[in-house]
Amino acid sequence: MVEIKTDAALEAMREAGRVVAHALAAVQDAAGVGVALRELDAVAREVLDKAGATSPFLGYHPSFAPVPFPAVICASVNDAVVHGIPDGYRLRDGDLVSIDCGAVLDGWAGDAAVSFTVGTARPADLALIETTRRALEAGIAAAVVGNRVGDISHAIGGVARAARHGLPANLGGHGIGRRMHEEPHVPNSGTPRRGFRLRHGLVLAIEPMLMAGGRDDYRTAPDGWTLRTADGSRAAHIEHTVAITDDGPRILTLP
Ligand code: MG
Ligand code: MG
Repeated sequence: MVEIKTDAALEAMREAGRVVAHALAAVQDAAGVGVALRELDAVAREVLDKAGATSPFLGYHPSFAPVPFPAVICASVNDAVVHGIPDGYRLRDGDLVSIDCGAVLDGWAGDAAVSFTVGTARPADLALIETTRRALEAGIAAAVVGNRVGDISHAIGGVARAARHGLPANLGGHGIGRRMHEEPHVPNSGTPRRGFRLRHGLVLAIEPMLMAGGRDDYRTAPDGWTLRTADGSRAAHIEHTVAITDDGPRILTLP
């Protein structure tokens, strides 16, 4: 079932989204060559704690996972696409890092992700991140009343395919509200004019994840969580929580 939010709920979700934005900014500030992923998780935890928010990631245990997720951020480096567990790995010069973070504040969830490089960036990584950002921008631009979920999917997929990047099959965005994952699913490629019709009060997490090598397949790492590109190429992932409103799309996960 798709839940349509009241305007008061949208305001509450804006506050949850603000916490997510602050956590991601703090993590990106703290990231650098030699910094351990686990230290970045601690940075995000502190932001959530200070805001009085809880993490929808910590302890999350979907049926596919062997263990509950042990952290408040996902940290996915280089060929890791999403769901990386922040461990003792220390960032190296030129790494491409994607950080995904959620927060629950006053019962409402926010969900967003950023991708960035540390140290000396590879030009191809900067281009991949920029294309992912443009894919998200296109998806958000299509998130207007009267469009359908397929219009968002088509917009994202068009940007990715034009750049010959892969999109992990079956992974994508989602409705969000009191729970982090609600209906509808928001695929990262699709057919225009198909799927759930967008209306005021629908809130979606829109999250293109692009794989540089152009293939759509990926593999699950031995930890049971981390998804890596099948061809070893690098991946980027950028996400915002977006409310569809009569005044146009409203990004809830901004500072
Ligand atoms: Mg996320
Ligand atoms: Mg999400």
